Amino acid sequence: MKIPSIALLLLCCCYHGKAHVYRPVKPKNIILMVGDGTGLVHLYAGYTAKGGQLNIYEYAKTIGLSITASFDDFITDSAAGATAFSTGKKTRNGMIGMGPDSTSLKTIAESAFDKGLSTGAVVTCELPHATPASFYAHRPSRKMYPEIAKDITNNPAATILVGGGLPYFDTSFLKKAGYSISIGIEAMLKNTGERQICFTDTFKEPPPAPKRGPSLSLGSMHAISRLSKNKKGFFLMIEGSQIDWGAHNNDSAHTIAEAIDFDMAAGEVLQWAKKDKRTLVIITADHECGGLTLHGYDRVNKRPVMHFSSTHHTAEPVPVYAYGPGADMFSGVYQNTEIYNKMMQLLGLR
Ligand SMILES: [Zn+2]
Repeated sequence: MKIPSIALLLLCCCYHGKAHVYRPVKPKNIILMVGDGTGLVHLYAGYTAKGGQLNIYEYAKTIGLSITASFDDFITDSAAGATAFSTGKKTRNGMIGMGPDSTSLKTIAESAFDKGLSTGAVVTCELPHATPASFYAHRPSRKMYPEIAKDITNNPAATILVGGGLPYFDTSFLKKAGYSISIGIEAMLKNTGERQICFTDTFKEPPPAPKRGPSLSLGSMHAISRLSKNKKGFFLMIEGSQIDWGAHNNDSAHTIAEAIDFDMAAGEVLQWAKKDKRTLVIITADHECGGLTLHGYDRVNKRPVMHFSSTHHTAEPVPVYAYGPGADMFSGVYQNTEIYNKMMQLLGLR
């Protein structure tokens, strides 16, 4: 006998005679991609400049909004913004991995590492910069680069690192801490160390896109190829750091180049996650930067006409795009700290 589908649905729902409790499908791995300063419009500018295509838009069917205010300010900086993702606590602007009372808080990377997961970070800024630092260091000020570099060096959870900032690190300390050090993209691809730090260049700050090459895409896939060997799973933070810098400078070409570079890395990551099937990819921002609006289309330069209303961050909520198991938990409007809570729940870390 053929059971009508509505009857079958009722049968399933009522089978145990209990109210249905929603339990999200849990991922094995989480990749958190942060576009620093990347509001809704920065990515749409990249989409427009690419002729109407963006990998993030194609993959991420679940979208939410994150409210980014910090503990002490309506407008967050990157330190408090990343600390909200890494620890689940709103803190004062400028603080790294610490609560507003200067108490060190355990980060999601440290919790994941303690549970046997592999952990890392891939960025296009210097590694002691606010966003990567907030996952692997604990300091009252983001400006404490020497101390932050020491924290990162001594943090066992900082297993695979890709980014700039070589002059801020003491390579003899890095070697003592067990790091295999490489410099340049080619050398990174050959770095097979269990614990490794891959400097993408020798500068204090990596150059802008596209000059620096595909360090974010290649670095992300290099880190994933190492981290995914762990049967227990991994947590990786990837940051397109310089979208924010382009917006601070009200530099349309740089902002677009960085948004496209970030989307290229996201495309590689999402394609890998699609095959893997057990990885949740979350793509969001710590805050908007530049108060960016698009006022038309520039046919000569084949890009939108961009108007920045500020050289600083703004309070605009930022989009959260999610793909993979557990993605549906990221729809809705919530505080940035909820991103930490959802990730911790999904990885079974609390
Ligand atoms: Zn900024």
